[in-house]
Amino acid sequence: FQRLREGLSRTSSQLTGQITSLFTKRKLDDATLQDLEDLLIQADLGVETALRITDTLASERYGKDVTGTDVSRIMASEITKVLSPVAKPLELDLNHKPHVILVVGVNGTGKTTTIGKLAAKLSGAGLKVMLAAGDTFRAAAIEQLKIWAERTGSDIVSSKLGADAAGLAYEAYEQAKLKQSDVLIVDTAGRLQNKTELMAELEKIVRVLGKLDPDAPHTVLQTLDATTGQNAMNQVEIFRNVAGVTGLIMTKLDGTARGGILVAIAAKHKLPVYFIGVGEGIDDLEPFEAKDFAQAIAG
Ligand code: GDP
Repeated sequence: FQRLREGLSRTSSQLTGQITSLFTKRKLDDATLQDLEDLLIQADLGVETALRITDTLASERYGKDVTGTDVSRIMASEITKVLSPVAKPLELDLNHKPHVILVVGVNGTGKTTTIGKLAAKLSGAGLKVMLAAGDTFRAAAIEQLKIWAERTGSDIVSSKLGADAAGLAYEAYEQAKLKQSDVLIVDTAGRLQNKTELMAELEKIVRVLGKLDPDAPHTVLQTLDATTGQNAMNQVEIFRNVAGVTGLIMTKLDGTARGGILVAIAAKHKLPVYFIGVGEGIDDLEPFEAKDFAQAIAG
């Protein structure tokens, strides 16, 4: 919790500073409520959650003095209500061997790093993990994944640059069967510059995996970079339908002032948030806890 609080301190200090100055020597009226709503929206929390907070505050304290502490308390409690339904642990169905996790997301959002951290967690729990270097477009992505495989004691299947990603996913699945891996994690490309091609590629990977096991991919994870704010919201829109995203991991929540975007995404998309990334290191992937997160933002 301490790490999370430190990570989100820029989000919360910016917000609580503004809230405190807003209510200095002012009673709660329509004008202050409007200013507060604007602040909350600027903090990326989203209109729906901003209104929940201002409505609750108004019903408790309209016409009265308000302190920053009052607002923080109500913010923490309303944000917890929004986040609780999406704070779900990643569950693996090990009746499927391998359980296939497809990882999608725009380049730079932390896909490769998150796969590495996840592989470390799973192999630490005694599972046999296989990685598939499905971002066949970027040599650096393949190299990075190899490093993570070595670091986490995972097997890896890769191909040469430019190879067909769905073909690679097929081969990786066969290898995982052969080696009796428990989990297969498939990396994918994320070049939004050529959206049509990328979407066709993702659809094909999903289709090929589905032929090998009708329930595969069993988990489709999307990584989102918290520092990109509203862009992260649009990215969920883009990937969710094509790849059948089952849950999210938000990365780079350490040191950003835009952590509020997770709340807006939760309110809009209602997709599970399995983990959050709070640094570049192997252990910097934490389960997502609604109450801790809400408190860290509310200050
Ligand atoms: P990909 O292009 O989606 O595979 O993204 P990468 O995994 O290569 O990550 C892009 C950059 O973000 C790298 O420099 C990572 O070290 C960094 N990164 C990933 N996750 C986090 C995180 O949770 N916190 C921080 N601070 N950096 C991260």
